[in-house]
Amino acid sequence: MSDDDGMLLNFDTNADFGEKTVAKVTGGRWKDRRRLKMMVTGQQPNKKRKIEKARENDRERQEIVPREASVGKNVEVEAKNARTAPLVAGPQVVSSLFTSNREISTSSNDNARDESAVHKPSNAPLFKDTFESVGVQELLVNHLKEKMRIQKPTSIQKLVFSYLLLADEGRDKDLFINAQTGSGKTLAYFLPILSRILQMNVRVDRKSGCFALIVAPTRELASQIYSVISMLTNCCHYLVPCLLIGGERKKSEKARLRKGCNFIIGTPGRILDHLQNTQVIREQLSHTLRYIVLDEGDKLMELGFEETIRDILNILHQVPVSTERYPQLPSRIVHVLCSATMQNGAAKLGDVALNDYKLLSTRKKKHDDAINEAPDQLLQRVVVVPPKLRLVTLAGGLDEIHRKHKQTKSSQTSRTMVFLSCSDSVEFHYETFSSNDAYHRNLVGESVRLMDKGNSILPSFLSDTDPDVVFYKLHGSLSQPIRTSTLESFSKDSASTKGKHLIMFCTDVASRGLDLPHVGTVLEVDPPFSTEDHLHRIGRTARAGQSGEALLFLLPGEEEGYLGKIKPYHPKGWKLLKYDEDLLKPAFQETSVRRSDRNDKPDGTIHDWDTNATTWHLNVERRVLEDSTFKSLAIKAFTSHVRAYATHISDEKAFFNIKLLHLGHLAKSFGLRERPKGIGAQNSSEKDSSKKTPKENTKNKMFRLARMAVKESASEFNY
Ligand code: AMP
Repeated sequence: MSDDDGMLLNFDTNADFGEKTVAKVTGGRWKDRRRLKMMVTGQQPNKKRKIEKARENDRERQEIVPREASVGKNVEVEAKNARTAPLVAGPQVVSSLFTSNREISTSSNDNARDESAVHKPSNAPLFKDTFESVGVQELLVNHLKEKMRIQKPTSIQKLVFSYLLLADEGRDKDLFINAQTGSGKTLAYFLPILSRILQMNVRVDRKSGCFALIVAPTRELASQIYSVISMLTNCCHYLVPCLLIGGERKKSEKARLRKGCNFIIGTPGRILDHLQNTQVIREQLSHTLRYIVLDEGDKLMELGFEETIRDILNILHQVPVSTERYPQLPSRIVHVLCSATMQNGAAKLGDVALNDYKLLSTRKKKHDDAINEAPDQLLQRVVVVPPKLRLVTLAGGLDEIHRKHKQTKSSQTSRTMVFLSCSDSVEFHYETFSSNDAYHRNLVGESVRLMDKGNSILPSFLSDTDPDVVFYKLHGSLSQPIRTSTLESFSKDSASTKGKHLIMFCTDVASRGLDLPHVGTVLEVDPPFSTEDHLHRIGRTARAGQSGEALLFLLPGEEEGYLGKIKPYHPKGWKLLKYDEDLLKPAFQETSVRRSDRNDKPDGTIHDWDTNATTWHLNVERRVLEDSTFKSLAIKAFTSHVRAYATHISDEKAFFNIKLLHLGHLAKSFGLRERPKGIGAQNSSEKDSSKKTPKENTKNKMFRLARMAVKESASEFNY
């Protein structure tokens, strides 16, 4: 049966039924004669022809092979045909994954990484120095070594300690700390603060007042700083931190403030809210506040917190500082601004928040006027992937990482982060991968034959027969408790995650400052919205001297030019991958074991990797066709992705130009066989007069909505 189906699918009925060969049709009504003639010649009535013509834009001069619509009938045969030629399923066009893709122009790597060289970690602790030698208080040194397993300071820590801790001439100056991601910035500014309080040898407790206020751009980062401080203050439990973040109950935060705290950590909006409306916070800060830390300064500016920060500073600068109380502490408020990148935003915040400051940076001198760099030990890889193949290449990429995970010690947990541009896309990819096999078993029925246990032609991790993989999703549209518990589960080794491969699909909400342990690989499937974002995303791996890998996806064409833009950030170079040879082939190639497993198949056919990749993709497409919830997820994801694409900063528009996106091909990587119609229809009711104005075409409407989205981009992440 399956063979016959295959034959049918290959018939090209258009080819041999030209006008001349058709027998004359006579008799009956003219309409019937016309319809019959059209049927025989394969032509379509006018209206249908128009629709078909519109679709042709997407098909791009491809040869069209009509086939019968046979959803779920024979994925394998369909895949074999679809591999090289597009299919027409009734009104559906199934374009082939591997044809009509734009050529990739980056054939040689002009920033190749020297893989034979040993790349020493650039953000690792220093071997020569000790915490004692840089003046950290003894109790803390012991606590760091015994409880936190931190033995030696990193270079940025050593540098900051010399200004905030040692009796240096620059002591108590405002500081602008600029250091690589994962270099220990939190301890760099907080250890000296805590150390000086402990060195006072004065009895202090939670009622003594608040000494430091730390502002972070995201709730996640604020929570993480809070945990680091909580961990450090375990050795001096009479000192208490307090967390104030959006999404939490203000009432319980007020109650905690009333009990007293020595360090306040929070997000700008919530801190300002309390400063304006909660009397007790001002009482806590009066006379004792000595340090204001603004963490991730550039992100604070990017998210539009400049005014909020100004308001916070105005209020805090009116709070009295009494030098009689705690004279061992600075005699004025010391401002510390941290940023892993030093682009315009951070510099501007420096002007707003700092007075006569000292810039502390571990950057190499040659880039003094420019930028920060990726850690030397981070292995950056780049792959140029045609838009149609993005989803299947992501599957290949994840499979590669999973195979490496399988080779590591069984007790070791691997963590992978997949960065996407928007919440909807995270939802779609999470759903696609996390319920992949379950879906096939339940819905596709017959086609699952190829994916049965032990008989899989799919990447190993894509089967839920592999209990080793746990999928997560994180984005700003999830509620705060879910965001918090997701991060907790992803980052902590527990009985349910130990030894597993944890894969998290996320937006940039997870890119800033988060210190998630042992993230082995970062995949940037959607390119970052700025080079700073790129550094922050890849900075989730290769932290504090550990190794790590990152893989950046780019589209063929203008996006390839982005490599020139990020080259200075990667002085150690990168490795250029081929999406087919390096990612798809190894993942979808049948191993000899799999082949022998499949000898019991009736036809004994052995398929090439590209057929297998196509099979996998067709199953995603089928799911979109059959499962309406999944379909709306795919459409939403595609639409939001295109809108988000328009939010690339103007500096980088030359590489990420929405007008040059091939929407039809891009839709394919969301499992959609054609570009969704009627995008933005929800707004149509608002425009009653629309009948009078000329009709806007779908593409223009999408661009207009994309421009609107630029303005709303910050709220997307719901910081
Ligand atoms: P941060 O840049 O503050 O997010 O810190 C990155 C990671 O480095 C965290 O996991 C810290 O616990 C760790 N870390 C900070 N300082 C040191 C150090 N001196 N030695 C080893 N690890 C450190």
